[in-house]
Amino acid sequence: MTKTRHLTILGSTGSIGESTLDVVARHPGRYQVVALTADRNVEKMFEQCIQFHPPYAVMLDAQSAEQLEDRLHAAGLDTRVLSGIESLEKVASLPEIDTVMAAIVGAAGIRPTLAAARTGKHILLANKETLVMAGRVFMDTLRQHHATLLPIDSEHNAIFQSLPQHFNGDLAGSGVRRILLTASGGPFRTVDLKILETVTPEQACAHPNWVMGRKISVDSATMMNKGLEVIEAHWLFNAEPEKIQVVIHPQSVIHSMVEYIDGSVLAQLGNPDMRTPIAHALSYPERMESGVQSLDMFKVARLDFESPDFKRFPCLRLAYEALAAGGNMPAVLNAANEVAVEVFLAGRIPFTAIPVMIEDVMKSTERRDVPDLEGVLLADLQARATAREWLACNIRQSTGQPGKPASSLSAGQ
Ligand code: NDP
Repeated sequence: MTKTRHLTILGSTGSIGESTLDVVARHPGRYQVVALTADRNVEKMFEQCIQFHPPYAVMLDAQSAEQLEDRLHAAGLDTRVLSGIESLEKVASLPEIDTVMAAIVGAAGIRPTLAAARTGKHILLANKETLVMAGRVFMDTLRQHHATLLPIDSEHNAIFQSLPQHFNGDLAGSGVRRILLTASGGPFRTVDLKILETVTPEQACAHPNWVMGRKISVDSATMMNKGLEVIEAHWLFNAEPEKIQVVIHPQSVIHSMVEYIDGSVLAQLGNPDMRTPIAHALSYPERMESGVQSLDMFKVARLDFESPDFKRFPCLRLAYEALAAGGNMPAVLNAANEVAVEVFLAGRIPFTAIPVMIEDVMKSTERRDVPDLEGVLLADLQARATAREWLACNIRQSTGQPGKPASSLSAGQ
């Protein structure tokens, strides 16, 4: 009889959060949902509380927490509603939970995910930003507090499944030659480079294979997502950048591969549905039903591969550069990217300005070591301030002041 796992789901109202609850609901009795968290989506959180009856629900936003509390009270539920970042940390480290799904989007996920690590939880990591920003700090904290980690990102989950079962962080010792990290190439893989200057947020979010949150969808369109994943793979598998080869594979059927020194290449394949890596991580080392359909090889029919084009996808180059520089630079890359994606989604800068802004922020930031969480959070704050200055300058220029209009900024400049 499998022991019941006690779960906190950080970011339960998001795309990964919902897929996690979908898998959990398929296995009554196997998981108990202890805490759910969101930022402001009261409606969805209310529905989730009605379905899963968690003892705790956290809304980051205080007003949203009040609204949720009123609605739950009226519905006769005794879920305790909390708000604020400290409450996110609290529910990630409750003594009565053993497992945390870390699925908040962006840098906001770092503090609660680290709180889970400090209390020795079993962490299912979707929030790649934690590893990008604070790889060293996070991995050290995991080791120090005997916390465990399983990757949710489909690529890293595939790599994990393709590595030897008791992989100890020594790629060479395990006979691994390199990691082949697959990427779909997103919606703009083949469009004319000129057209990229005028693409809309809706076009950028229309991923050909995956249904995801808006931030990661834009990251997929710029391939910053793959860049962040290269950094994530570096920390998860102790892989030097030159051992991580990005391979564009438009069908998203192979989720990544590991090549061994004898020439064997092991891959994990499946339909592009996040419930597969979520179910794998939730039930590891066992397997369980996820609701994902069988892969129809006859329908797939062919698998294509291309090498990535850094001219089309400068964000991927910037991520490799940030990883090589180390210290604060991955956090700077991530922060500048988060600001750039936010303002692109708000229609304030063109798609092609995203890498320009990130590169300018990186260039105007001095490289420093970041030995602790405070250092990481400071690097994040400073990079956001620099990004906002960049924005103020370029948006002003686009509204009639002398200078170059923001809409003419493009990756090639
Ligand atoms: P979504 O945008 O769909 O969901 C984000 C979740 O985080 C929501 O619950 C949201 O609450 C909450 N949230 C947003 N901002 C904050 C904040 N400042 N503080 C606390 N909570 C917040 O994101 P995804 O599910 O797409 O992605 C989540 C993470 O998983 C990301 O790191 C992403 O890179 C990673 N990932 C996602 C994949 C996918 O297929 N979606 C695949 C692989 C990795 P609210 O609803 O109230 O806004």
